[in-house]
Amino acid sequence: MSGSGDVTTDVAIVGGGLSGLALANLLQAAGLSFQLFEARAHFGGRIAALEGLGGCVDLGPSWFWPGQPRIAQLVAELGLRSFPQHAHGDIVFEDATGMVHQGMGYASMEGSFRLEGGMIGLVEGLTATLPADRLHLSSAVKEMGSGQVRLANGTCCSARHVALAIPPRLAATLIYDPPLPVAAFQSLTAIPTWMAGHAKFVAIYDRPFWREKGMSGDAMSHRGPLAEIHDASSADGTPAALFGFLGVPASHRKDRAAEIEALALHQLAQIFGPEAREPLQTALQDWACEPLTATETDQTPPAGHPAYGLPHALVGVSDGRLHFAGTEVAQEMGGLMEGALASAERVARLIIADMKPGLDAS
Ligand SMILES: Cc1cc2nc3c(=O)[nH]c(=O)nc-3n(C[C@H](O)[C@H](O)[C@H](O)COP(=O)(O)OP(=O)(O)OC[C@H]3O[C@@H](n4cnc5c(N)ncnc54)[C@H](O)[C@@H]3O)c2cc1C
Repeated sequence: MSGSGDVTTDVAIVGGGLSGLALANLLQAAGLSFQLFEARAHFGGRIAALEGLGGCVDLGPSWFWPGQPRIAQLVAELGLRSFPQHAHGDIVFEDATGMVHQGMGYASMEGSFRLEGGMIGLVEGLTATLPADRLHLSSAVKEMGSGQVRLANGTCCSARHVALAIPPRLAATLIYDPPLPVAAFQSLTAIPTWMAGHAKFVAIYDRPFWREKGMSGDAMSHRGPLAEIHDASSADGTPAALFGFLGVPASHRKDRAAEIEALALHQLAQIFGPEAREPLQTALQDWACEPLTATETDQTPPAGHPAYGLPHALVGVSDGRLHFAGTEVAQEMGGLMEGALASAERVARLIIADMKPGLDAS
């Protein structure tokens, strides 16, 4: 494998989502060199935001929770501010006939935390601390050699260690030379990508009018198209926003964005009142349609939260020089952002132990 513009580094990181960026930060702090390759034209992966109108609304993850020390530490280190998910007011239930029942009691996400400015602040904060010349956007990795990665444009990067900070099912689609052990390949394809089959609809308003009516913004629906709705407003209520997870399966969402958006606004008006018909801005983020997140197998989401972890077959691959990071192989809180940070930490520890023995990576 060789090509023009080839580079050599300690660690080649594939993927510029939370896990890849966190890994880059840990390696940098340990004095190791790295090159990070991100296929999309922006960093963050599943962390994304609808920007505009004086703020950002999360299109990917919205919440973190108490008992997640890595996120808490990162938020503090980056100087970001968190605030509790709005939970004051009634949750609303819409039954299958469209009848709306208010006064069902609790707010479903009470106790969770959001970030002022959205989760994208984590991505911006992490990238800001890294040297720009080591971060490569629009750089899809296609082939994995022994201690080498090759990009779609033919460029090669040689490295002592390679870390795949991408969903396992996408890691299984790369070309490996020499080939991956069969058990490793099977393990990768078996791991569902968390939330990859889901879609979020976001609507921004001039004020959180539902709060004026005693509603929290939380709603559950057996009718749809939104199955679960939450307040997505910023800490001070500006911008005001609602978001909902689509209850429509991915196969029925394809090429129906405009129709689904219209139905979602109609549903929000049924539940929260006519003001909902007049959003300032809307977005439908369908993660199932994102080939850099979801594979064909991910179009049907798992029934519950999978028991993630690092399969034995993915340990010590390529003489311990090929590492699998990313939230799906985290040994704790897999699927969540905390898991992405945990997996970055584990891989950093292994690499640092090899290249800087004696240095504490924690
Ligand atoms: C709708 C939704 C809601 C969620 N809600 C929450 C929540 O409230 N709280 C929570 O903790 N978590 C939540 N999550 C999960 C959270 O987003 C993930 O845990 C986390 O973002 C995963 O980070 P990652 O780096 O492991 O993977 P990703 O974010 O998937 O990053 C992988 C990166 O690799 C890139 N890539 C892929 N293939 C290649 C290639 N061949 N070459 C180069 N680059 C490549 C991708 O473009 C991507 O940028 C949610 C996710 C979604 C989609």
